[in-house]
Amino acid sequence: MKIRTFAIGYILALALFLFAQHRPDAAETSGFRGVVDLTHTINAQVPTYELAAKPAYRVKTVATIDKDGYFAREISLPEHFGTHLDAPAHFVQGMWTVDQIPAERLIAPLAVIDVSANVKGNADYQISVEDIAAWEHVHGQIPLNSVVMTRTGWDSRWNSVKDYRNADSKGVMHFPGYSEDAAHFLVEGRKVLGIGIDTLSIDYGPSKDFPVHQYDLRHSVYQLENVANLDHAPASGGIVTVAPMKLEGGSGAPVRILALVR
Ligand SMILES: [Zn+2]
Repeated sequence: MKIRTFAIGYILALALFLFAQHRPDAAETSGFRGVVDLTHTINAQVPTYELAAKPAYRVKTVATIDKDGYFAREISLPEHFGTHLDAPAHFVQGMWTVDQIPAERLIAPLAVIDVSANVKGNADYQISVEDIAAWEHVHGQIPLNSVVMTRTGWDSRWNSVKDYRNADSKGVMHFPGYSEDAAHFLVEGRKVLGIGIDTLSIDYGPSKDFPVHQYDLRHSVYQLENVANLDHAPASGGIVTVAPMKLEGGSGAPVRILALVR
């Protein structure tokens, strides 16, 4: 019996080996041509919404290969740091914390709206329903249960905290965000699962009461902020995977966002 089990196991292993040898290109089998990483790399230079006295991101090497035989570090950072996800619990008590967002909401069709031309000359630009209508005129209706991201072009400022925050002499920041009407249309009219942007906040820089945050999160729609590389993502037809760190009780978390390109 044991010999027979062994023989079957051996044949299976051999079959798998041969199959692997003749496996066609992985991209072909998955049906995707490529992957676009929509995530900024985390480091100490990451711009933050609030200006803190001490560095928001701290990293300490706790083991080295020379000394310990392996390399490891300890990190400390805010939940809302770098490319990150806002969970509904960020603004509304009793709503999903980041670990509670159902996994099936984290993979979705991706629509990328480009308003970078409108942002030139108006840092306080607010994405409008007209911008969404213009996208739909070209690409058709945004599929229900999508994740919608807007490219404002702001990520070209990522390497300068000053330019990315773009605060005036009174400390008021100026960067683009979503208008309330656009958010209402996406959430109610297109049933989006998540909304993303390549700036520090879904609400535009001067906002004091964050109406889009209040609205989206109350409707169980998660938000993705400081999204990267949207100029490389397809405007339509892509699939996005949104993989936040699964922090129990978290108001949000750093997130790895990948766009799969068909
Ligand atoms: Zn946030």
